Amino acid sequence: MRIENHKIPGLWYGQSSNLGARREKPPVVIVLHYTTGWNGKASRDWLMGTAGGTINTRSSAHVVVDRDGTAWQIAGFDRTAWHAGPSRYGELQGLNSHSIGIEFVNAGWMKPNGLGDYIDAYGKRMNARALNKAGGYTLAPHGRVGSGAFAWPLYPEAQIAMGLDIVQALIAAYPIAAIVSHEEIDTRGWKTDPGPAFPMERFRGLMGEAADREEVHVVTAGRLNLRGGPGTGYEKIVPPGVLLRGTRLKLLKREGDWAFVAPERGDGEEGSITGWVHAAYIAPKFTA
Ligand SMILES: [Zn+2]
Repeated sequence: MRIENHKIPGLWYGQSSNLGARREKPPVVIVLHYTTGWNGKASRDWLMGTAGGTINTRSSAHVVVDRDGTAWQIAGFDRTAWHAGPSRYGELQGLNSHSIGIEFVNAGWMKPNGLGDYIDAYGKRMNARALNKAGGYTLAPHGRVGSGAFAWPLYPEAQIAMGLDIVQALIAAYPIAAIVSHEEIDTRGWKTDPGPAFPMERFRGLMGEAADREEVHVVTAGRLNLRGGPGTGYEKIVPPGVLLRGTRLKLLKREGDWAFVAPERGDGEEGSITGWVHAAYIAPKFTA
């Protein structure tokens, strides 16, 4: 799969009416979502807005991937689509302007009703048998939904395979520096997509060396421990002990979830201290 003129040749294309201006800079982040529904065509038409014959004037995306692996492109990748809402990733605010949004058809969390059924965000009720017939599910808690465990429908392999193909083509075509979930960038704390059933590591794994395209990173946690090795069992390096939010780091290498970094000194010069931090708490410092 490749990208030509900001489109994927061979993919169904219909342009959403809910798009912003042509981008001035190429996209640097890919945001992954679920649609909160089972019907791919209905979601595609909704995200196309009036162009899809619906009344939606507020949201869109670039691509919708159905459960059987069918994909529909509804915006050129050089256009801003409206999928991220109020959002932040590292130093980037308002991710719509900086990202490509991919929607995977999936109902998302389903709450148990105590009678053996699970109820989705729209009130649709399914029992375990029906959920298994629809591709299976996993039970997992999620603080943003409530207490207890919820059923999360699985993503069929055909759908994931198509998503991986698309993301790989995007990484080859644009200076993508990060693949993120909608949940992790949502500043209101509402979003749960694409959720615990989504194989996020398989998508992040596509980044490979592209993950380090932006070698300057920043600390996104309030306080982040700098350690002597890649694990919480390693001692903290003192000084500096903790790195504060916004500290700039040079990313030297990665090992699993950990990153070996050299924090910059207060004067912006490269320091001589190096150590390990958990990579979930740093983000690329995008050249603005
Ligand atoms: Zn979303």
